[in-house]
Amino acid sequence: MTRVISLSLLAALLAGCAAGPAKTPPGEPGVAAIEVRRATADAAALDAIATSYLRLSLEIGTHEPGYIDAYYGPAEIKAAAEAAPRDKVALLAATRALLAETDRTAQSLSDPLAKRRAAFLRAQLRAAETRLMMMEGTRFAFVDEAERLFGVRPQLKPLANYDAELAKIETLVPGEGPLAERVEAYLDAFTIPKDKLQPTFDAAIARCRGQSLAHIPMPADESFRLEFVTDKSWSGYNYYQGGYHSLIQVNTDLPIRLSRALDLGCHEGYPGHHLLNMKLEEKLVKGRGWTEFSVYPLYSPQSLIAEGSANYGIELSFPGEAKAATERDVLMPIAGIAVPADDRYWQLLAAIKRASGARLTIAQQYLDGEIDRPTAVALTQKYLLVSQPRAEQSVRFTDQYRSYVINYGLGEAMVRAHVERGRPSRDEMWRRMERIVSEPTLPSDLQTR
Ligand SMILES: [Zn+2]
Repeated sequence: MTRVISLSLLAALLAGCAAGPAKTPPGEPGVAAIEVRRATADAAALDAIATSYLRLSLEIGTHEPGYIDAYYGPAEIKAAAEAAPRDKVALLAATRALLAETDRTAQSLSDPLAKRRAAFLRAQLRAAETRLMMMEGTRFAFVDEAERLFGVRPQLKPLANYDAELAKIETLVPGEGPLAERVEAYLDAFTIPKDKLQPTFDAAIARCRGQSLAHIPMPADESFRLEFVTDKSWSGYNYYQGGYHSLIQVNTDLPIRLSRALDLGCHEGYPGHHLLNMKLEEKLVKGRGWTEFSVYPLYSPQSLIAEGSANYGIELSFPGEAKAATERDVLMPIAGIAVPADDRYWQLLAAIKRASGARLTIAQQYLDGEIDRPTAVALTQKYLLVSQPRAEQSVRFTDQYRSYVINYGLGEAMVRAHVERGRPSRDEMWRRMERIVSEPTLPSDLQTR
């Protein structure tokens, strides 16, 4: 590692001093010149792989709606891919050939950043291969599917591990009848009235943006549009449109509670999806010309980084009591919600979040055929403390996105462990977050770097 770094440093230094006195006899390239040429050849090889990967991803996208979460490269590349997409069998073969080429290229790389770029492309291609196999009918076990698509093998806890948390929630919302119903009835008092949704979300997103902007520089012309929609399996979505602009949608099928405001503002906005996409566009697509980042295939390790950083971004922006204080002092008055006299509301939300890991186990049991759909809905009601309609929406999400659910809870835990390793200062925590969302970060980078 030391040798590799010093060689590339040497190459960079000497490249910057090209006008200095020549120490190599005319006609014979020096070590530094050879290194520079090699780095240029490596970059060209990776650029070619990136171009093929981009085209491949857009073609795969024609076979599955929603596969391409974002694309903001040249419109003619997308138009060409969509005009004559290869069939799935041909795309699978092309993906495997490109994987092999990436492996060959990676063997000769010495520059650490080039290695990370190759590793990223490799992981994305592996996910594309897996998704194509799934489109062709292959079914993987839940943990295998998650590992192949998102780059990490989840370790799932038995549902009984969450029973102690349910017992705590029981003491917070005592009474008769099923616990989930009592929790829902209690939380209904914190529903944002429909006519207050816009001002409440505007205020929340502005606060999330302010927190992020204090630590992470953003392009001056960045912006987003907020829309309220219905009939979706998700509760919020960010459609990144390039040029530092996002469309953020909020699903209003079910009543929206106050806690969603800061959660959504940070998750879909800042420092979540909108900020991550902006930093990738600014630093990698425009800054380095790495075209592979102008496309974002949903079923890929990129999603673990995106969902993990978006979820952890809530806590990073509003640590400790800051979230409750902002909700109590700013958002509840805007939404016209009566401020509670004690902190039971926030204690309850924290306990519900701790129990929410059960969602992964329920999804695994359901998708692996160990439990049927009504049981999955019932377990979701029990462990996620939600009404039947909310549980149905959760299982509908699992039907549609399958093992994608690991990206939220597991991704968040991995980002938290990486950002908080060694108890750093808050400034250093934000610097780590900025690196995660500005570099070709893979789930494995969070565990080792
Ligand atoms: Zn998300």
